[in-house]
Amino acid sequence: MAEEMNPLEELLEDELKDLYSAENQLVKALPRMAKAASSPELRRAIERHLEETKRQVERLNAIGESLEIKLTGKKCKGMEGLIEEGKEIMSEDLDDNALDAGLIGAAQKVEHYEIAAYGTARTHASLLGFNKVAKLLQQTLDEEGATDKKLTALAESIINVEAVTS
Ligand code: FE
Ligand code: FE
Repeated sequence: MAEEMNPLEELLEDELKDLYSAENQLVKALPRMAKAASSPELRRAIERHLEETKRQVERLNAIGESLEIKLTGKKCKGMEGLIEEGKEIMSEDLDDNALDAGLIGAAQKVEHYEIAAYGTARTHASLLGFNKVAKLLQQTLDEEGATDKKLTALAESIINVEAVTS
């Protein structure tokens, strides 16, 4: 980035650092969530999103390089809290079915956080004329949206209401 940054550029830099931290925290947290899932479909969906998340980190690296900024050194507290809540669900004494329902909910909260954060960063990048960056952020935004929809469909197909309510 240019030496004299306008305030929106500074804000975008913070947003990208926050996302970089968020994605890296997720790369560490998702294996544990996948392991906790009892439905094989849910486990596979989480594992697939783990691989996608690693590619999203690479995409952020490319963005950092193109803007000539370092994305390390910030901690995303929002993601930290969401992961903490996911751990709470895993530590509760839930039956398999209810645990899966809770895991899906925790994962969807994560996706919605990412959707908000990527949407904001994309808009700011686009306002600043960083069109290539905006395009890369949109790609990840689309993946997060697709993951969210997949999780809703999974909830509808794998959660057995009778088992939950009996
Ligand atoms: Fe992500
Ligand atoms: Fe995600």
